[in-house]
Amino acid sequence: MSLPDGTKRENLIAGKWEKSGSTIDVLNPATGKVLASVANALVGDCLRAVDAAHDAFDSWRNTAPRARAEVLRKAFELMIAEQERLARIITMEMGKVITDARAEVAYAAEFFRWFSEEAVRIEGDYRRAPSGANWLMVSRQPVGVALLATPWNFPAAMATRKIGPALAAGCTVVLKPAHETPFTALAIAEILERAGVPSGVVNVVVTDQPGAAVEAMLDSGKVRKLSFTGSTRVGSLLLAQAAKRVINCSMELGGNAPFIVFEDADIDAAVDGAMLAKMRNGGAACTAANRFYVHSNVLDSFTEKFVARMSALKLGDGLAEGVTLGPLMSRAQQERVANLVDGAVARGAKVLCGGKATNDPAFGYQATVLADVSKRDPITDEEIFGPVAPIISFDDHDDIVAEANRVEHGLVSYVYSGNAARALRVAEQLESGMVGFNRGLVSDPAAPFGGVKASGLGREGAHEGLLAFLELKYVAGNWA
Ligand code: NAD
Repeated sequence: MSLPDGTKRENLIAGKWEKSGSTIDVLNPATGKVLASVANALVGDCLRAVDAAHDAFDSWRNTAPRARAEVLRKAFELMIAEQERLARIITMEMGKVITDARAEVAYAAEFFRWFSEEAVRIEGDYRRAPSGANWLMVSRQPVGVALLATPWNFPAAMATRKIGPALAAGCTVVLKPAHETPFTALAIAEILERAGVPSGVVNVVVTDQPGAAVEAMLDSGKVRKLSFTGSTRVGSLLLAQAAKRVINCSMELGGNAPFIVFEDADIDAAVDGAMLAKMRNGGAACTAANRFYVHSNVLDSFTEKFVARMSALKLGDGLAEGVTLGPLMSRAQQERVANLVDGAVARGAKVLCGGKATNDPAFGYQATVLADVSKRDPITDEEIFGPVAPIISFDDHDDIVAEANRVEHGLVSYVYSGNAARALRVAEQLESGMVGFNRGLVSDPAAPFGGVKASGLGREGAHEGLLAFLELKYVAGNWA
């Protein structure tokens, strides 16, 4: 199976698709074999991309908001019209099942539509000074050249969630996607070109030297914004690098979501929510439910129904008919997940279903439910990023919030309860930027997505996502 015809394999710099001296082999996680090669940008290429974005900035920031909006709207329409082609690229390079890939394309395109609507809503205001002697005028201006670095797990949505608001605000960008999944990002850049984005406004560089490349770009003196999605480890490293030149940062980092089922929950709804919160994207989501806390009164009924649903999933090549769980993205991910499960089992956890890695698909791991996991098992501290659900039973309501808040991350939490007052009280106490209340999915382009604690800084999506690419400008006026 090869990439759809016309899929770009070069970097986009100043409106030109460029080959480079070397290439990176990109693997298909279902076969473990090379899918295709992509041009490998050197540090110098990345710096030229920053120069191009810098040169294009003045003209783009002065382009009418309505014109910027129309480019984004057109890109939304093209993405929807080409949903199937993009979905196939995502599945081939990343592994998720094709239905998840189609859903990702729809979700990703929606960021272009949402921010096309936001581009014409960049507000300012006009205030009277408390002394009454003069006026304070406040407006918003684009931050400047934005460096966008994205992970492999949502290769389309993580790119559009940044490009959309950046272009709407009047910023120009250099996108550095994960080199494991470059083709989706390049395909989106090509769509933006067709939608009318001028040369240099969107540049894409793929490199297998992300550390050196990102550091050099941050140090160029031309980048004013860093918007990063990825691991907490890399995010915190980049914050330190950005500090050197006081670069404005937004950070969407790792998660470790608790999924709490109270005894008054609708168990069928909780199982539906658990499947979504755990298994969307094969478990490789920052929002993935990572620890299931289930009240002892409903433990048996929840577990039985959940295990039945998890066991019914069909693991295979995400493109194949009837497959409902794709492989993990790499051999390294597969080994990491296997080690986490084996460790928990060695410490007394019981495998209720799954529990094994596969060779077909190449980087596969079975949908797995673990029971009798101890509250302090290391698997509860780590982001699993795979199809594994550890279940922990609880009795004490007061304890459970402290338990959920125990970890360093705070992206999202899920609460299932038939008592809205209790659920909202718990939602208030949970240390996470988002809470799913009787819902296993929180992502929505119209909602402010983001975390607290080690899960990040700032929000993406919603109006707040636009504000992240704007700076306040205050003019003191005096014409009395
Ligand atoms: P990662 O941190 O390894 O990589 C993310 C990006 O950073 C990639 O583009 C990568 O090439 C680049 N990178 C890697 N090392 C770098 C370095 N030393 N300097 C500069 N850039 C570097 O993350 P990943 O494994 O690709 O993605 C998985 C992680 O992303 C998980 O922790 C997941 O929770 C997180 N994530 C968070 C969100 C969110 O919105 N909060 C969304 C999706 C994924």
